[in-house]
Amino acid sequence: VKKYLKDYLKRNGLLTLSVMAVITGCVLGFLLRGQAVSTQAKIYFSFPGELLMRLLKMLILPLITSSLMSGLSSMESKACCRMGVLTVTYYLWTTFIAVVVGIILVLIIKPGYGTEMESNRLGGGPVMTSADALLDLVRNMIPSNLVEATFQQYKTDLVPVPKTPTKAVQQNFVYIVPDDDSSKKGHSVLLELTPAPEIHYKPKPGSSQQMNVLGIVIFSATMGLLLGKMGERGLPLVNVCQCINECVMKIINAAVWYFPFGIIFLVAGKILDMSDPSSLGKKLGWYGITVLAGLFVHGLILLPLFYFVLTRKNPFTFIRGLLQAMVIALATSSSSATLPITMKCLLENCHVDRQIARFVLPVGATINMDGTALYEAVAAIFIAQVNEYELDFGQLVTISITATAASIGAAGIPQAGLVTMVIVLTSVGLPPDDITLIVAIDWILDRFRTMINVLGDALAAGIIGHLCRKDFPQDAESANGNPPNSH
Ligand code: ASP
Repeated sequence: VKKYLKDYLKRNGLLTLSVMAVITGCVLGFLLRGQAVSTQAKIYFSFPGELLMRLLKMLILPLITSSLMSGLSSMESKACCRMGVLTVTYYLWTTFIAVVVGIILVLIIKPGYGTEMESNRLGGGPVMTSADALLDLVRNMIPSNLVEATFQQYKTDLVPVPKTPTKAVQQNFVYIVPDDDSSKKGHSVLLELTPAPEIHYKPKPGSSQQMNVLGIVIFSATMGLLLGKMGERGLPLVNVCQCINECVMKIINAAVWYFPFGIIFLVAGKILDMSDPSSLGKKLGWYGITVLAGLFVHGLILLPLFYFVLTRKNPFTFIRGLLQAMVIALATSSSSATLPITMKCLLENCHVDRQIARFVLPVGATINMDGTALYEAVAAIFIAQVNEYELDFGQLVTISITATAASIGAAGIPQAGLVTMVIVLTSVGLPPDDITLIVAIDWILDRFRTMINVLGDALAAGIIGHLCRKDFPQDAESANGNPPNSH
């Protein structure tokens, strides 16, 4: 037993410590909630957790650029193309399925019916359409300034619209032909109505916290492909990227030992800050259960099933290798911040080909958010139910398309899905202000949906790796004496 325990701890020590850290953080947070903790004390208390987040975020930029540039430079363009098309198709398809799972569950459970909650029925809140979101997505793909892209995203400005826009106001002009006045018979009189207020959507850089990961991914992937085509001349830069990548992985290997300590304070600090859970109410509780049930069905039944069908391998052995990344996702609520750990787990525990992981993961952390898409669809229908607003089939289809689009547009940072949900709500005429109904519980759901987002990216890397195994028969770097299983 002693030997078994020793072996187990040697293999899973870090994971065990991280899980214990989450539990300790929860207990500590709830214990301290009873005490009167000043704001200043809270800041000091959350400091180790803040350091953890900073450490993870620090690694995102060098990891993405070096991974993509060195990874894609050593690939044939045909293989690259095939991998790219497969990845994007798989991502879109699974996200859409996640949305459908969410819609089915929320229609069965009906968490929003009843009169317990007050909606903001005015409908005069900020408005952003799916087209605006799409434009933002494309804008972010081409950053006008690469340095700026490392700390800023473009986000469409939200401008209020009139509360009850009528047809007449929208039309600007109507023609009236008065038939009682014979002298003017046959002449039209132009009557000018109040012109409709113009609604402008101004693109503007988002908050300084949001790195434009998508723009950086696109730029680095293009550079990687071009470097590969340059052959000998491109080698110096490729070598630099490989060195940076190796260093980043070494930093990650060292930093992970700090994580359990940081997680305790990250989780405890959040619990200390949250609003009183008893104020959430029954309806919101059912809404939360619906989202969690959907995430469970999608993440632990459907995605593993796809993995099994497409690879004929045991999905749960694969998922076991990812547990460390999922704990970090739970603690940080950010799939971008978890990216370094997901990469480490995939390479060391799941033995996915480096070239595949280096492409599929960064792209997935940016555009593939199954958990977020599912949650957005459930939340929109929940809000419709609270408003006693019957959605027809066409509107359900609209929700499924916009929820998929909104999740692609959401950044891999905490509660990004809550912001892009405005698109889903306005697409079917629901009041965007009603987001306030679900805010109280959002930070908890965010942690679980981030876990599923990370799981979805990692399983995708396993599947794409299997489907493209003929294109990448041997992991070049592993063959160069860099064993994939170097803990
Ligand atoms: N926090 C999520 C992520 O980073 C995004 C969201 O759903 O808000 O993946």
